[in-house]
Amino acid sequence: MNISHIEHLGIAVENLDEAIKYYEQVLGMKCYSIEEVVDQKVKTAFFLVGNTKIELLESTSPDGPIGKFIAKKGQGIHHIAFAVDNTNDALKTAEERGVKLIDKTARPGAEGLEIGFLHPKSTLGVLTELCSKPE
Ligand code: ZN
Repeated sequence: MNISHIEHLGIAVENLDEAIKYYEQVLGMKCYSIEEVVDQKVKTAFFLVGNTKIELLESTSPDGPIGKFIAKKGQGIHHIAFAVDNTNDALKTAEERGVKLIDKTARPGAEGLEIGFLHPKSTLGVLTELCSKPE
């Protein structure tokens, strides 16, 4: 599936404004984008660290995936996202290799990327996202 790098780490937070404050004022990073992804019921904030991004995720609804995650586990690392050449091809390859998929086909994510998730039951407990730039 040709993973090139860790595209981002997704971190679930209760309050996006407070989380941005920590990343900017304590860690000295700069938030370069805030975006709502309606499909996933989240508001996201992005920071760049080298070639990798930090994606902060605040739920816009208690019944969204991040809302449910925080209710169950609290704030913290939610997923790891690997950059691949083509998300649909990579999902297909993962399925052929016995991985249970959350997304059978790619869907739109933040920053115009095509994304798809692998099920944590098949990935040693780590919710794993594959993402690629649209071709
Ligand atoms: Zn993500």
